[in-house]
Amino acid sequence: MSLGAIRRARRMKLEPDRCFDCGDCVSVCPVDAIRLQAGAISVDQERCVECGVCWRTGVCPTSVFEPEDLPWPRLLRALFSDPATEHRRTRLAGRGMEEIKTNDVRRRYVGDWVGVAAEVGRPGVGASFRDVQCVTQAFAEGGARFVADNPLMELIVDPARGRLDPTILDERVLSVIVEGLVPVVALEPTLRALVEACSRLSAPVLLSVAGGHDIDGSMSYRPVLAAMAFTCLPTGKMNLGFMA
Ligand code: SF4
Ligand code: SF4
Repeated sequence: MSLGAIRRARRMKLEPDRCFDCGDCVSVCPVDAIRLQAGAISVDQERCVECGVCWRTGVCPTSVFEPEDLPWPRLLRALFSDPATEHRRTRLAGRGMEEIKTNDVRRRYVGDWVGVAAEVGRPGVGASFRDVQCVTQAFAEGGARFVADNPLMELIVDPARGRLDPTILDERVLSVIVEGLVPVVALEPTLRALVEACSRLSAPVLLSVAGGHDIDGSMSYRPVLAAMAFTCLPTGKMNLGFMA
């Protein structure tokens, strides 16, 4: 079953006849999709990620922005960009998963397993699912297992190759977190595959790792990071930096 069959979301419909060109709405859009040119308001539908901010903030005094039902696969834009929507799989809003930094209490990554997360896209830039697929393919190439309770799992049709549903690749969102479970022995090839994949993207990608401490306080994956010249901190989660 696709997400499209089970979820509904709303997109912005314009009522341009109500616009009196005040320009107040232009700056609220996190991806610069709202344009006011020659006295006419318009939304660049390719850039719009259906975050709902222009409507929910009530910035427009004459309610030019109105929500309407979104079709599949466009509703994915709202599911991953509108914090007021909830993912069916995880019952969490926004990007639909707990952040990797909660590992200290979740204990998902312990011993010889390391968590690797890639946040693809940021406000102001966004990302397409084609960008996300470059990252999921790198995870698969490196030998990572995708984390099951991530809403992205419903969109990965070939986990062994990291391939997403081909019908969604042109959809754009603010950001998606890809999270994988990696044995320490596969950490270096996974990170190298990710760094190479990210170098081909225009979307920014923030890489992070998380793991547990051994009983003596050491971290089994720390030498791998040090050998790759990443800064190592004595924390459960480390941001390795933006890769694009
Ligand atoms: S829904 Fe979000 S991205 Fe789309 S025009 Fe409104 S503020 Fe911009
Ligand atoms: S806030 Fe409303 S009235 Fe003002 S430019 Fe935007 S759409 Fe037009």
